Amino acid sequence: MVGADYYSKEEDKIRCLLCPHNCLIPNNKFGICKVRHNHNGELVTDVYGKIAALHSDPIEKKPLYHFYPGSKILSIGTIGCNFHCSFCQNYQISQCKPSDFQGAYNLTPYELAERAHSIPENLGIAYTYNEPTVFFEMVRDTALLAREKGLKNVIVSNGFINRDPLHELLEVIDAFNIDLKAFDDSFYQKYTGGHLEPVLKSLQMVHRSGRHLEITFLVIPSLNDSAETFIEMTRWIAEELSPDVPLHISRYFPAWKSKLPPTSTQLISKFAEIASQYLKYVFIGNIGENNYSSTFCPHCRNVLIERSGYNTQILGITDDSRCKVCAKSINLPFVIPQK
Ligand code: SF4
Repeated sequence: MVGADYYSKEEDKIRCLLCPHNCLIPNNKFGICKVRHNHNGELVTDVYGKIAALHSDPIEKKPLYHFYPGSKILSIGTIGCNFHCSFCQNYQISQCKPSDFQGAYNLTPYELAERAHSIPENLGIAYTYNEPTVFFEMVRDTALLAREKGLKNVIVSNGFINRDPLHELLEVIDAFNIDLKAFDDSFYQKYTGGHLEPVLKSLQMVHRSGRHLEITFLVIPSLNDSAETFIEMTRWIAEELSPDVPLHISRYFPAWKSKLPPTSTQLISKFAEIASQYLKYVFIGNIGENNYSSTFCPHCRNVLIERSGYNTQILGITDDSRCKVCAKSINLPFVIPQK
């Protein structure tokens, strides 16, 4: 257990200020994430340097499609989450206490950065699998060391984090994939335990910072599959962020407590068509080969980046960031054409 940041003392309790739950924690009790607790008047974290998952993944698996496509990235996760989604795909690590999880091992930020640096052609480190907000101090310290070694840092998050810690992360994180789980606060309250508004604020903050941003939306039948609300969501992304922000529309499969059937492929295709009316880059996830796997030129539909599974090829972009067919300028600053 290691001292945590972002808290205040309120009489004999502690207020954690890391995420919008702002948990008021009595002595010897945990916050909602089951990771941070009040230890004799100090806020501590149980997941600093505690690794539950570590793999080298294609960057496309995060998913990030316009951030150094075709790269591999060392991906790590710890334990715990500030959401409790009944459909969580990674509930084994996200929904338990660090003390109940078997098989975690210790790696310091220094060791992690060294390991990432030693892997040939590794892009950097992705903080993913469980919610990186709940291992904030570990992310920040590791990302700083990784950056000093010339590596990139990537976060895959639910976006439910307070403004000040997010501001600190923006100093060291290069790219974000943030889940937008619904465009409906009652969904957030009922199925995640959180709220929509702080997530929207995080999306705006990341976008305005100039850091690379992509968004994932998991379509769950009967829970968040209203076409009307989805249109509102895609319009909000286009107007409040940018039509250039990639949207990954992902197919749900039953997981953890959720027994609903998988989302129909027809519905996913319909949502992709809708989103394409407002956004330039729309992708479908969790469905094999499909018409929304590759990146197309928004002007002439030439294939800019071709994807087949995790095989990625940058085909249609010139060295000066133009479409090879129509010659129009393409705003993909982190896509480096292959020689
Ligand atoms: S990070 Fe954990 S303890 Fe802190 S406010 Fe969020 S849920 Fe509560």
